[in-house]
Amino acid sequence: MQLARAGMSVLVLERGGWAARDETAWDTRAIHIDQQYRGHVPYEIRQNGSTSLVHPNHVVGGNSVFYGAASFRLRTEDFHRRSRLGPGPAEAAVVDWPFQYEELAPYYNDAERLLGVAGASGRDPCEPPRSTDYDQPPPPFASPAKLLAAAGEALGLRPFPMPLAIDFRGQRQHRCVQCLTCDSFPCRIAAKNDISVTILPEAIRHGAVVRDRVSATRILRSGSRVVGVEYRDLRTGQLETVACQVAVVSCGAISSSRLLLASGLDQTKPNGHLIGRYLMRHCNGIIGGFFPNPINPEGRFHKQVAFTDYYLGSANGGQPTGPWGMLQSLQVPPPEFYKTTPFPTNVLGPLTHTRNTYLICISEDLPQSSNRVTLHPTKRDRYGDPIAEVSYAHHAEDLARRKALYRVARRIMRRAGAWIRFYHHVDTFSHALGTCRAGTDPHHAVLDPNCQFFGLPNLFVVDASFMPTSGAVNPSLTIAANGLRVGEHIVRTWSRVAEVTGP
Ligand SMILES: Cc1cc2nc3c(=O)[nH]c(=O)nc-3n(C[C@H](O)[C@H](O)[C@H](O)COP(=O)(O)OP(=O)(O)OC[C@H]3O[C@@H](n4cnc5c(N)ncnc54)[C@H](O)[C@@H]3O)c2cc1C
Ligand code: SF4
Repeated sequence: MQLARAGMSVLVLERGGWAARDETAWDTRAIHIDQQYRGHVPYEIRQNGSTSLVHPNHVVGGNSVFYGAASFRLRTEDFHRRSRLGPGPAEAAVVDWPFQYEELAPYYNDAERLLGVAGASGRDPCEPPRSTDYDQPPPPFASPAKLLAAAGEALGLRPFPMPLAIDFRGQRQHRCVQCLTCDSFPCRIAAKNDISVTILPEAIRHGAVVRDRVSATRILRSGSRVVGVEYRDLRTGQLETVACQVAVVSCGAISSSRLLLASGLDQTKPNGHLIGRYLMRHCNGIIGGFFPNPINPEGRFHKQVAFTDYYLGSANGGQPTGPWGMLQSLQVPPPEFYKTTPFPTNVLGPLTHTRNTYLICISEDLPQSSNRVTLHPTKRDRYGDPIAEVSYAHHAEDLARRKALYRVARRIMRRAGAWIRFYHHVDTFSHALGTCRAGTDPHHAVLDPNCQFFGLPNLFVVDASFMPTSGAVNPSLTIAANGLRVGEHIVRTWSRVAEVTGP
């Protein structure tokens, strides 16, 4: 957006199409069973002793179209994780970020404004300093959020309204109707402020061109500069190329590595071998409570309340030492959704869903070199290009943090009156992070502090890949803020980069 605003000629290559804002958007069958947005490029995941093939959604706006809109800032402490808590276990490469919270803070302000985040400042117990208020106040809690907040307060916790990138006032297009098909669904009325309804239309207004259904296949180089991008038109299957002076990669942590590896950038010295490493995805888990009576009689959106009392760990010597993470209420999915889950949830879910509510525990996972994305040695997508292979195992410290959060969540559920509680360890890559970490030393990082690929002055990577450690907040707002920071840097140095690269 900033590049287009600054008069640069911007072409966005996106492998998905635009999300349909029609009756399919809130339809569980279309989205989760028929998987309307299922893409053509799977990746293979090796974890927990098994291998599975995942087909991520492809759509303009990426995962922001399906996200739950929770829009948190990282904490000041997250940026100097190593200086504060030491290097951690030998298997992990815990580092400080190459810039501090104070540098990102103005861009967090901008990102919150552009995404129209609704929130209440001053309520989050470990909120980092902020110089602006939220764009809009949060709506009152629906019954399930009220219940969990009251239970937390009774336990001495400080629940607060989750910041959400949702248009509750109808300022942009349509006012949110607070429905029950938000998280993991596109918003039919575009009240969820995802990238395809906020940033991209603004970029297009300033002259950017978005080419949908085209998939970048290679970054083209001449010596130490990028000269273009090769991409496949998914409508025709044909390969095409486009010349460029600056290339900005933002395919998500798994796909960006795949693209850089497929482009042979792993051969670059001294950082190429680091591409794909230090993959993170948080250590998340859901705890569910079953209540004697229906708890959301008004049938309202209720992903609303959060707890960060234990974000930095236990103040009373509770184990483990170090940060634990946060808890958030989670939307209970529609009954039909349970058809996609294994037994016995597929049977019990539809029978009990009006009496269920969930808390999601989000804890930090350590950056481990062995958790990584590589090109699959044998498997190809339908066009013959190697798919990504993802290898991941949680560190024992990750699991200890999540277990500690489960204990807190269980107390809240119990206090709220839940009869039965269940646990679900999240093992998806919806919060995929890292793989092209930013840092100051090219021997230990793929990107410099401005997310410029070390050794290629006109190549930038600006998605979740740049994150050197994961923190324990939902990542989108940080990705957006960093994107704005890097965008400003590109605009500032563009004439210099243009000089380097020539016409
Ligand atoms: C169901 C769900 C709920 C979530 N809820 C939240 C939440 O409440 N809050 C939060 O902060 N985060 C949430 N997340 C996570 C969040 O959506 C992601 O962290 C974030 O979108 C990652 O941004 P990204 O730019 O790194 O990648 P992506 O959002 O994955 O964007 C990458 C884009 O690149 C495109 N692409 C990939 N490869 C190519 C290629 N070769 N050529 C062209 N285009 C390509 C993709 O189609 C996509 O549009 C959620 C995620 C999911 C799945
Ligand atoms: S809760 Fe609001 S933003 Fe979310 S899908 Fe429903 S109407 Fe859209």
